[in-house]
Amino acid sequence: MPATGLIRKYDSRALLMVTGQCAINCRYCFRRHFPYEDHRLSPEDRTQAIKTLSEDTRLNEVIFSGGDPLVANDRLLSAWAEALAAIPHIRRLRVHTRLPVVIPQRVTDSLIKWLSGSRLQAVVVIHVNHPAELDADTQRALERLKAAGITLLNQSVVLKGVNDNARVLAELSERLFECGVLPYYLHAFDPVAGAHHFEVSDNKARDLVRQLITLLPGFLVPRLVREIPGQSGKTPLDLFA
Ligand code: SF4
Repeated sequence: MPATGLIRKYDSRALLMVTGQCAINCRYCFRRHFPYEDHRLSPEDRTQAIKTLSEDTRLNEVIFSGGDPLVANDRLLSAWAEALAAIPHIRRLRVHTRLPVVIPQRVTDSLIKWLSGSRLQAVVVIHVNHPAELDADTQRALERLKAAGITLLNQSVVLKGVNDNARVLAELSERLFECGVLPYYLHAFDPVAGAHHFEVSDNKARDLVRQLITLLPGFLVPRLVREIPGQSGKTPLDLFA
C-alpha cells in the first residue's frame, strides 16, 4: 500500500504528506504522537513521489496532508501543484487544513493563485468544531477561497463540553453554510492520551446526528465517521446500530 514514507494510496486517492508540521497542536489530535520528524521530505523524496503518482493511473485525486499542509510556504506548495497538474490522470487536489480558521491571514493572494490557477479541481477541507470559531475574519478568508472557485468542506470532532449538543452542531452547520462551506464529516472521538475529558461515547454521537437530521436539511448533516488506521478512507458509524 504505502509507496513511500510520504504517500499513502487509498484506491483512487493518494494522501501526500507535504510537511510534518502543524501550527495548532489540538489536544485531541489523533496524530498528536505521530513521529512527524521521521517523515521529513528531501528533494529526492519529492521526485520519487511524483514518479510514483505518475505511474499509478488508478489515482485521480491527491490530498495534501500533514501536519497542516498550509504551514509550508506557497512556493513549495505551488511547485507541488504544478507537478501534479502535469500528471494527466490526476483530476483533483484536496487540501486538509485548519489554518484558514485559526490564522485567516494565511489565505494570501499567492495561496489563492496556485490553488485555483491550475487545471486541477481544488477542494479545501477545513476543521471547525464550534460556530464561535467562524468570526468575521475567518468568514472573509473562506469567502475569498469560495469566490476563487474552490470547493469548501468542513470536518469536526465531537468533543464533550464543546459541541456535544445538537443545537450547537446545527448552528455550526448553518454558520458554515453562511461562509460557503458544506459540513462533511463529524468524527467520533478517538481516545488520545491527555484528552479523555473531551470523550463522547459513540452512542451519544449517534444520538446527536439523529437529532441533526430533524433540525437540518440533509445537505447540512455531516456524516458520522471514525478514522481507523489502515482503512481505505473514513469508516461510517451506523446511526441506528
Ligand atoms: S489542526 Fe488537525 S493535524 Fe493539527 S493538531 Fe489539530 S487536528 Fe491535528
